[in-house]
Amino acid sequence: MGLDEVDSKILRILLEDARASISKIAEELGVSRPTVRKRMRKLVELGIIKRFTVIIDENLLKGFQVLASFKASNAEKLVRELKKMDEILEIYLTTGERNVVCIARIADLKTLEDLLNKFSKFDVSFEVSIILRTEKKPVQTALLHMIKLSCDYCGKEITGKPLVYTLHNRKYYLCCPTCLREFNRKMRRR
Ligand SMILES: [Zn+2]
Repeated sequence: MGLDEVDSKILRILLEDARASISKIAEELGVSRPTVRKRMRKLVELGIIKRFTVIIDENLLKGFQVLASFKASNAEKLVRELKKMDEILEIYLTTGERNVVCIARIADLKTLEDLLNKFSKFDVSFEVSIILRTEKKPVQTALLHMIKLSCDYCGKEITGKPLVYTLHNRKYYLCCPTCLREFNRKMRRR
């Protein structure tokens, strides 16, 4: 993606808190505010940051969700139709006999009936289940693990969850307990 360490760290901070201020990010990374501002603008221009958004707990929204799976001979056509429907939130093309799966939000049983009628018109076999509860990890959490970071002590790429060392509001990322211990020792010697 052509991102350097500073870009990656900015992304990490923003994934955890989209409202993190420029001064807070600058402080955490030990860089200047204009640098952060410039990098953020770049990340937006490159389309890496698409928008700054909020995550709502879906269980608190009114109505309920349903999961529908279809056995479509023309999956692309079905996907196009589903995309036009406002109540459909997500569409997946999948392997297996049921090759299109979607999630829809429904206000009440009447709208569920309407939805089933719309699905029937597609003339493909389908199955609908009501989702009783959603236990979703925010996409952000999953993305965090995909952003490359290197260890501030040994320089090696950090695989897995980084260990964080904070000093005067600045954050350092370490790859393992040994590096954390050595880094801690080095910083205290200063
Ligand atoms: Zn290390």
